[in-house]
This record gives sequence, C-alpha cells and structure tokens, in this order.
Amino acid sequence: MEKKSLIQEFKEFIMKGNVLDMAVGVIVGGAFGSIVGSLVNDVLGPIIGLIVGGLDFSKLSFGIGDAQIMIGNFIQAIINFLIVALCLFAILKAFNTATAKLKKPEEPAAPATKICPFCMSEINKDAKKCAFCASELK
Ligand SMILES: [Zn+2]
Repeated sequence: MEKKSLIQEFKEFIMKGNVLDMAVGVIVGGAFGSIVGSLVNDVLGPIIGLIVGGLDFSKLSFGIGDAQIMIGNFIQAIINFLIVALCLFAILKAFNTATAKLKKPEEPAAPATKICPFCMSEINKDAKKCAFCASELK
C-alpha cells in the first residue's frame, strides 16, 4: 500500500465535507451562545434580579477565607446552558416535525390476498372462484 503524505491526508480530511459542516456548526453555535448569553445577562438577569429583589445575579458571591466564590457567574452559566439546550431541543423538535411532514406517508400495500368466506382459505384477491373449495365468489 502506498504511504500517503501528511498533506494528502490532511486534504482528504478537509474535503470530507463534514469538517466544513462541523466548522459551520461550531461558528453558528458560538454566535448562538453569545445571543443566549446576552439574553440571560441583559434580559433575564435583570428580571430575575427584580423577582429576587434587586439582587444582581452575576455579582452574587461569597468568600471562603481569601477566596471569592463567584457563585452567581456559575449559576448564570448553568442557566445559559439550560436555555441553549431548550432552544436546541425546540429547534430539533421543529426540524423533526418538518421532515416527518415532508416525508410521504407510505401507503400500506394493498393485500394481494383475501379470505374465502366459505372455507376461510387465503386466496388471490381477484379470484372469482376459490382455489380450495371451488365456491363462486363475487
Ligand atoms: Zn374457499
């Protein structure tokens, strides 16, 4: 087997296409993340702050000795993640519903046989006479 050069291998890797898809996904995901971040920090944060009573969520912290634990930032990150997950779930659900609608519902194949009412044998659906009991069929 011929040994591929590193450049050749890299080129094949890039040309596989899913690398580009992945890059698009990462970039869109990043942009989406900042939108959600803004939504949480600039819109939801103040609302939650209002509900909690003028508490600035992001500045929520407590000290252990000399260490300052920024619990607010952490909680905010969790909220961000939950919102992203929820949005992705909603998008995926909508996408799945849309693709399911686009797919033609497969018609169940018409049965090629019927049951003879006289002998209950399975016979051709177009049969005029039963193959088993020779009864005349409509
Ligand atoms: Zn029959």
